[in-house]
Amino acid sequence: PHLEPVQINRVIEDTLLILERSIPRMIEVTKDLDPEVPTLLADKLQLEQVIINLVANSRDAMPPEKPGTIRIRTERITGKDNTPWVQITLSDTGLGIPEEIQDRIFDPFFTTKEPGKGTGLGLSTVYGIIRRHGGTIHCRSFPGEGTTFTIRLPGRASLP
Ligand code: ADP
Ligand code: MG
Repeated sequence: PHLEPVQINRVIEDTLLILERSIPRMIEVTKDLDPEVPTLLADKLQLEQVIINLVANSRDAMPPEKPGTIRIRTERITGKDNTPWVQITLSDTGLGIPEEIQDRIFDPFFTTKEPGKGTGLGLSTVYGIIRRHGGTIHCRSFPGEGTTFTIRLPGRASLP
């Protein structure tokens, strides 16, 4: 990985610009970015990939007859010993994930999409990237209501 100081809000803004063309206009994308988030020591391209994979899944969970909102939020949070961390919350008002498959979504090649529409590699890639950056990722989903992914990453100053 190519580690450098990274402003996560910038990565999100840049990535959303790239994604704009692939998101139907009916879907609303909202940002709520905390200007006080700490700088990360990260691979910028890999973090872009994380945002791309998650937003693409949220888009895919919103069929034309039920468009909704994708919301991306960043916050400065405090870890152990008062270290600064970034929390990224990506939520959608899509179809949600059936409870019986929720523990498999991060598995490589797990997909519920039609052949040719999904590789099942998006979330396993995301998981690997976040873990390699010393972070965590969790998913909460309610069928019929939507899905929220919560990512936590250590700020540059929190790293050994
Ligand atoms: P793919 O998108 O190729 O299917 P992913 O690893 O990105 O593979 O996602 C795995 C599966 O997790 C998807 O097929 C889908 O069933 C489920 N999933 C992921 N994100 C969402 C979401 N935001 N809303 C509903 N289901 C989701
Ligand atoms: Mg995917």
